[in-house]
Amino acid sequence: MDKKIWLSSPHMGGSEMNYVQEAFDKNWIAPLGENVSGLEKDLEDFLGMGVHVAALNSGTAALHLALILLDVKPDDFVICQSLTFSASANPIVYMGAVPIFVDSEKDTWNLCPNAVEDAIKFGISKGKKPKAIITVNLYGMPYKVDEIAALSRKYEIPVLEDSAEALGSTYKNQHCGTFGDFSVISFNGNKIITTSCGGALISKDPAMKSKTIFLSTQAKDEAVHYEHTHIGYNYRMSNICAGIGRGQMEVLEQRVAQRRQNHFFYRYLLGDDDRFELHTEPTNDYFSNHWLSVIRLKPGQPITSEVMRQHFEAAAIETRPIWKPMHLQPVFKGMPYFGTDLAGTLFQSGLCLPSGSNLTDHDWQRISSSFENIKKNTAKQGG
Ligand SMILES: *Cc1c(COP(=O)(O)O)cnc(C)c1O
Repeated sequence: MDKKIWLSSPHMGGSEMNYVQEAFDKNWIAPLGENVSGLEKDLEDFLGMGVHVAALNSGTAALHLALILLDVKPDDFVICQSLTFSASANPIVYMGAVPIFVDSEKDTWNLCPNAVEDAIKFGISKGKKPKAIITVNLYGMPYKVDEIAALSRKYEIPVLEDSAEALGSTYKNQHCGTFGDFSVISFNGNKIITTSCGGALISKDPAMKSKTIFLSTQAKDEAVHYEHTHIGYNYRMSNICAGIGRGQMEVLEQRVAQRRQNHFFYRYLLGDDDRFELHTEPTNDYFSNHWLSVIRLKPGQPITSEVMRQHFEAAAIETRPIWKPMHLQPVFKGMPYFGTDLAGTLFQSGLCLPSGSNLTDHDWQRISSSFENIKKNTAKQGG
C-alpha cells in the first residue's frame, strides 16, 4: 500500500536544527531568546511596510490578543468572514462579544463588501457599531483589500486581517499580513511554513508590539516582585519553536513558488474540462501563495465533491471539503448573518486538494491517475 498523501504537511528546509541547536547550546530553552527576536526581525524584513511583529505561540492567540488590544468588550459586535476556519471566530466568543458573520463574494471567496456594509448598518441600528472587521485571506487568496479598507474608513471600524493561511501572498505588490490595523499569521504544522505550533501578531505601531509582548508574557509590571495591573496571558513563542521558524524563513520564497507550481499543475490536469473550476486569482492585482489548491464542481454534475473525495481517499490521498461556514456551524447557531448563500454553496461543491510543497513525482502520478479515474467515472455516470 502506498503511503498516504497529505493535504499539507510540514516541509523542513534543512537549517532549522542549527538554530534549535544554538538555543540548546546557550540554554535558552524558554519563551524568549535570540531566535524569537531573530524570527520577528526576519518577518519584519520580509513583510516590509515598516510593520512590527510579535511572535506568539499560535495564530489563535494572536487573534485573541488583537481583539483585546482593539478593546472589544462583552456584548460588542465583531464582524467576521463566515467562510473560514473556526479559529478566526472563536476569539470573539472568548471576549464575550457577538460575531456577525458575513458571506463571501465570488472572485476571492473572501468578505463580500456589500454584505459587510449591511452588517455594519445592522450593528448601528442596534446601537452598537461593530468594534472590528475580521477579514480572511482564505487558502492564501487576498481579500478585496481596497473595498474593505474604504468601509473601514467610512465607518471608522478597524480591520483585523486573518492572514494565517497567506504568508507570501500579495495584493498590488504589498504583502498580506500588512493590511489590517492588526494582522495575524500562523505557523501551525499545516501552514506554508511552520514552527510546529506558532503565530504572530503584526501592526504598524511599535507600542502595539510592546503591549502584545507584555500581555503575552503574563503582564508583569516593572518591579522586583511580581506586580500586575493587567490580566496576562501565556502566549509568547518558545525560543525552540522560533528556531524552527528562522530556518523556515530561509525557504519561504521557495515554498511559495512550489505551492504555486502545484496550482499550475492542477490547472494542467484539468485541461479544458469545464466541469471543474480551479480557484484562481481574479486579476493580476492578486497574487496568492496558493497555500491550498481548491477546485469546485460546476453546478449540474453527476457526481458530488464528496464522491470525488471518496475516490481520492480510496487511493490514500487526503482531500478535504472547503471549510464549512461559521454561520452553519452548530456552535454558532442563531448568530446574525449577512449575505446570500455563496459560502454555503462553496462548502457544498468544493474540495481542497493535496498542496504540500514536498509532493514527489510519484505522488503527482498517483494524484493524476485518481483524477483521470474521477473524470472517466463522471462521464460514464453522466451517460
Ligand atoms: C490556522 C488558522 C488559524 C489559527 O492559527 P493557529 O496557529 O493554528 O492557532 C486562524 N485562522 C485561519 C484562517 C487559519 O487557517
